[in-house]
Amino acid sequence: MSIPTSQSPDIIKTDIAIIGGGNAGITLASKLKYQNALVFEPKTPEDRDVSWALWATGNDQKDIASATRGRWKQWRLVDHNHEILHNSNEYYYTSLSSADYLHYCEQQLSPNVGLVRETVENIISHGSGGTFTASGQQYYADHIFDSRPAKMDKAGLKQHFLGIEIRTKKPLKDIEIATLMDFRVDQSRGLHFIYALPFSDRSLLIESTMISTTIEPVDWYKQGIYQWLDGQSIEIEEITREELGIIPMHETTPKDTSLSRIGTSSGAIRLSSGYAFTHIQSQINQLASNIEKGDYRVPQVISGTISTLDKIYNRVLVAEPSLGVTLMMKTAGALDAEGFSRFMLGKATIKDWIKVILAMPKLPFLTQVFRL
Ligand SMILES: Cc1cc2nc3c(=O)[nH]c(=O)nc-3n(C[C@H](O)[C@H](O)[C@H](O)COP(=O)(O)OP(=O)(O)OC[C@H]3O[C@@H](n4cnc5c(N)ncnc54)[C@H](O)[C@@H]3O)c2cc1C
Repeated sequence: MSIPTSQSPDIIKTDIAIIGGGNAGITLASKLKYQNALVFEPKTPEDRDVSWALWATGNDQKDIASATRGRWKQWRLVDHNHEILHNSNEYYYTSLSSADYLHYCEQQLSPNVGLVRETVENIISHGSGGTFTASGQQYYADHIFDSRPAKMDKAGLKQHFLGIEIRTKKPLKDIEIATLMDFRVDQSRGLHFIYALPFSDRSLLIESTMISTTIEPVDWYKQGIYQWLDGQSIEIEEITREELGIIPMHETTPKDTSLSRIGTSSGAIRLSSGYAFTHIQSQINQLASNIEKGDYRVPQVISGTISTLDKIYNRVLVAEPSLGVTLMMKTAGALDAEGFSRFMLGKATIKDWIKVILAMPKLPFLTQVFRL
């Protein structure tokens, strides 16, 4: 690989260094058209292949089309008492292969942007840039953007899950509907639900997901999946993929506060849902366009008000986990498909908010507001 930088025998210099070529880092790298830049990422896209989902309109498809594995205009939330089915005219619940998305971005890199498959170490920040090493080579960048994941708090609220992708023995029913949350599983250890995306009539992703503070043994998540499949009379012909994930739903501690951070470690994640893809895209689009104008400050894309409301929501979940199913079902039930999509995207209107607030049980929320 040729490195688009000025070089001396000892140190490679570049305008911009991006640490981490995950969602935020490689998206930013792919949008830099005029600056010399290097993005450092030790792993290949295949090393990190998981399913990323988002609510997208027809206009949002350009950069995600080649990575899209499935999209649904209908989605549902189910508990023992009822089913809420949303049918959208505007939004698709869209599932991407992260590996395909990362490959797509890597292919979009301009000749002035290099990808270095190495780990960054020994960072010494200076102004908005600094020096660092990667595989023994020393580098200097005028501007550094750090996307390394921040440290989670062991006792913090998390969304954690195990997913399997299967080929089924018989054709599936209702493949036009994505199941976002099916709560008809063991609730004894915290808020637990099954997430199921039918990619075709014989291919299904099923995730056993918990929202709680404690990570469970792998077999426990699997048991949830098998029980749910049994209940749906779905038989597995073959397991084709497995994925594990832990997403923070609390404020995390960045690796290095002296650096400009991008992506989830900069707070571009909804604390109440763990959805981050759309927020990261929005942050990076704004940042790339600012950089063209000489402004290297990282935009904050989730407002303070939304963060505070999300924190109150999460505090209620921690204080009263038994209310979890009710809160999720009432949130979805209060909104139609378009309102729910806006809510999940952080674009809820005042009317959407009023509907959700009116649907919530008041006392648990007021208690947590006063404890803030
Ligand atoms: C399994 C899983 C599923 C998710 N699903 C969804 C979803 O469906 N929808 C959604 O909106 N969000 C989802 N998220 C949340 C979020 O969108 C993803 O975590 C997303 O990858 C965050 O992007 P990022 O760039 O902030 O971090 P990452 O994508 O994690 O990128 C950080 C990169 O930094 C690299 N790195 C670390 N240390 C160094 C170093 N020293 N030098 C160089 N590179 C380094 C890592 O290898 C990594 O690739 C999911 C998260 C996980 C973990």
